Amino acid sequence: MNRALILHYLLGVEVSSRTLLANKSNLKQATLTKIISDFISWGLVEETGLISKGVGRPTIGIRLRKEGYRVLCVRLSRNYVETAVMDLAGRIYDEDRFEVDSRNELAATVDLIIERLRGILARNPEERFLGIGVAMPGPWVKEQQRLAYFTGFYKWQDIDIGKIMEEALGLTVFVEQDANAALMAEGEFHSWAPSGELVLLVMVGQGIGAGIYSNGEILRGKLGIAGEIGHMSIAYEGIPCECGNVGCLERYASTTAVVERARALIGSRSTSLGPRCRIGEILAAYKEGDGLAVAVVDQAARYLGYALASLTNVLNPGLIILGDEMSAAGEGYLRKVREAMGERVTPTVRESTELSLSSVEGNPFLLGIGHAVVENCIKTPEVFAKAGGEWKRRG
Ligand SMILES: [Zn+2]
Repeated sequence: MNRALILHYLLGVEVSSRTLLANKSNLKQATLTKIISDFISWGLVEETGLISKGVGRPTIGIRLRKEGYRVLCVRLSRNYVETAVMDLAGRIYDEDRFEVDSRNELAATVDLIIERLRGILARNPEERFLGIGVAMPGPWVKEQQRLAYFTGFYKWQDIDIGKIMEEALGLTVFVEQDANAALMAEGEFHSWAPSGELVLLVMVGQGIGAGIYSNGEILRGKLGIAGEIGHMSIAYEGIPCECGNVGCLERYASTTAVVERARALIGSRSTSLGPRCRIGEILAAYKEGDGLAVAVVDQAARYLGYALASLTNVLNPGLIILGDEMSAAGEGYLRKVREAMGERVTPTVRESTELSLSSVEGNPFLLGIGHAVVENCIKTPEVFAKAGGEWKRRG
């Protein structure tokens, strides 16, 4: 516990000292000295020479070697997988993305992911890898380590992907629902993190999921699936969804829905878009005022706004952040969402709820899952002593 406390503090600063750490932690000098010398012997901490901090004699600086450890980050989406390497300072290396066909043989997709990660490990033989983080879409049942369902991805709910990857790569795997992972990245950039205000991060991509941050932590619910707003019905006699419900929000407001609708409408009005148009092209056309793109994106924005009005009545967030693919539609889209939401809540609620686009630079899922792994490792600092070499023997 004491080690975790010191490590947590060192992670948040560039340089500290034994005296400062003793003051911060209230640990006895002898205990602290022992912890620091263990950390130094593991290669986790190093001395930086003399520093002066305010009054008193200069003291020897202590710093966490944030560049000395890596985590593997994986984000699974419906049509692609993204991978990257992150160090303890949150720097991303070796970012990659490859297409997968969600209707393919499941084992082949998992093998492909493992093969990619093996490639990264082989390219970085000198690095000390702490573990692997996987950001999963859909309702991730944390206790059972499996998906409740995954629309568009068959059979994924039958496997424990973490266990399979651990056995193949010899590194600890930490799985998190993707919107919750993104929430951790968002928190790094926002001052709301310590405030205790309820924050809703709504990730609108091929599916829709939310991370709910309340009282300093992620709100998970009984099974860990809280925030699965993509399967909240906004039309009780609406379009059926693979989850078993009808009128699910993601059938109306996700990028999958936008692409489907745009393609269906081509031919019925003039547009620069083609019959095989993809979301990137649709959002670019939206910004240029293309009639068809504006119609489908504004409609998706409206549906999302109505859903956010309901959620606001339930959760009363102070801040709602929109992220993932749809946020690339920009301020015009945000304005439409805000308008629709505003129509369905009282003026007082409307004025007290801030709505904004994500401010995370880079991939929030990869960054967030990386941070989640680091946070997890800090709870058991011994993993830093063991890191490195283990995967080579097994891999
Ligand atoms: Zn559904």
